[in-house]
Amino acid sequence: MMIISVELKCVTLILLSNILCLFVIAIGFDDDHAEILNKLKSDFRNVRHTNQYAVLYVPPPNAQRGRVNYVPRTPQILQGNVIVPEVDSTNRNRYPQNYAGSTVDLNGAVYGNMMHRTRGHTIHTEDLSLNLVYPAMQNWYNENFRGSTIRAVYLYTHFLPCPRCFDIIQNFVRTTGVRLYVGYTDLFGGMREGGNPNLERDTRQRRNNINNFLNDNMGRLLQVADRGICHQPGIGGRTVRDISDICKTTEEMLVIAMDFTSGKAQVWFNGFNPDYNGWVALLDKNNKRLTWEYTYSKTTGKITFNQYFENGAYIQYWQDNKNMIRQSYPWKDCGFEFIELNKLPYTVQNPAIFAAIKLTMMGDYPTVLIKKSRYYTPNSYDWVMIQTLAQIGTKSYQTWNWISKFTHQSDYFYYQFSLGSQFADGFRAKYVFYDGIAYRYEGFYDNASPIWTPGGCQGGA
Ligand SMILES: [Zn+2]
Repeated sequence: MMIISVELKCVTLILLSNILCLFVIAIGFDDDHAEILNKLKSDFRNVRHTNQYAVLYVPPPNAQRGRVNYVPRTPQILQGNVIVPEVDSTNRNRYPQNYAGSTVDLNGAVYGNMMHRTRGHTIHTEDLSLNLVYPAMQNWYNENFRGSTIRAVYLYTHFLPCPRCFDIIQNFVRTTGVRLYVGYTDLFGGMREGGNPNLERDTRQRRNNINNFLNDNMGRLLQVADRGICHQPGIGGRTVRDISDICKTTEEMLVIAMDFTSGKAQVWFNGFNPDYNGWVALLDKNNKRLTWEYTYSKTTGKITFNQYFENGAYIQYWQDNKNMIRQSYPWKDCGFEFIELNKLPYTVQNPAIFAAIKLTMMGDYPTVLIKKSRYYTPNSYDWVMIQTLAQIGTKSYQTWNWISKFTHQSDYFYYQFSLGSQFADGFRAKYVFYDGIAYRYEGFYDNASPIWTPGGCQGGA
């Protein structure tokens, strides 16, 4: 009896240590995949015209675990393209590299015809990556790495894939049979859930569905947050310990955003306590409180403050009037820096400093900033137009002004346009130059600012 008991304990111990071992190995592999997705996220960030961007990557045969190996070389990101390196008539059947970054093709302006999509419909990055780029990349891969077939595919996408893109993902995995590793940064936001009252609930449900689907097919869904944090969703709540230094679970959200109908500050929150006396405050960059609102026991939602705001403004969440328990990242131009004006007639071929463009808010005025370059002097007939989302891909605009009407500062000039409700879906600025004979619009995404959209403008996680 004694002997049997000892043996049983031994067996149990061995079983336990095996399970533990498998668990540790599983986490180890998740870290490797997360490292890859995190690297893709950082390397392709400059491809963005909107906050949504994606990266498709296929490891070459014998790639090291957890390492990204770009073939033929490390990507160079040029402004003005929707897919980088660009897909065009010369490479659309054989795409000679194992990676592609992409940003949203608004209104299908660039790839609508090639992909046979209805005019005016925006093509999402997952669609571009898996349906346009991948088949051509696969052709090249099979030829270039003779005898090797693709086993694993990595897809980083800034926002969690929308319902339609989840369909695209399922179709892709079922057709190709590859292991698909999907990484995302923001659970909420993006261009696709506007007006949905069950946004948070539906989004979390979809995240779980995508996670289960990929797990069932030997892939993974991982969150890769802005500071290199990732986690495998659905493993416990927010008290779960970090499974590694780059992997952490969070359901919480507190972000500063903008109400696009008024230009006023807005807060998006999730994971609050149902605290009737809780409140959120808007502060400026000097930590001065501008205004505040009760949360009235709401645990999730959006509140618009009756207040305009500038860069550096942020939100605090106070519980019971006593304790400040959470604080958002500051607002900074919807998350964008200056973007190079890539197609101007510069005095040299490769200017050391490009002129650049960006949007900012000054009070309730969306303001266009143009950073100067000594390699380009604006023509007095150069002008800047503001386009709504629907006008991207056309020469139409909502409002405009000559560069000569801009206010000059030492390093840049700026002009304040007025924000009307026609900009509620989003907007951007585009620089049109005069070459002495004609106005030059160049490509749809050339010489243009980033696009601000209500779902895409957040001050961080
Ligand atoms: Zn989508």
